[in-house]
Amino acid sequence: MDTLPICQAKSKQTGRRCKNFAVKNRAVCHIHGGKTPRYDARHKTEAGKIRQKMGSWKHGLRSKEAIEERKTIRNMIMQSKNFLNEI
Ligand SMILES: [Zn+2]
Repeated sequence: MDTLPICQAKSKQTGRRCKNFAVKNRAVCHIHGGKTPRYDARHKTEAGKIRQKMGSWKHGLRSKEAIEERKTIRNMIMQSKNFLNEI
């Protein structure tokens, strides 16, 4: 029988090693970040990619999509104005 891995974290106060079992396939227990997604795995899901993209936004009005959307609407308004002027 395999022995379960022990958490590799050390206490800041005592300097002793944590005695909890590590989370499966991780070096540390759930208290010391074993359940936190690994850094490279955070942005692999669609939700993670969106979160990464929006991380530095304040309101998103200057995002590429918002600017593009305003341009499209402006062009549509100009086209309809030109069309009405021709009539
Ligand atoms: Zn631990």
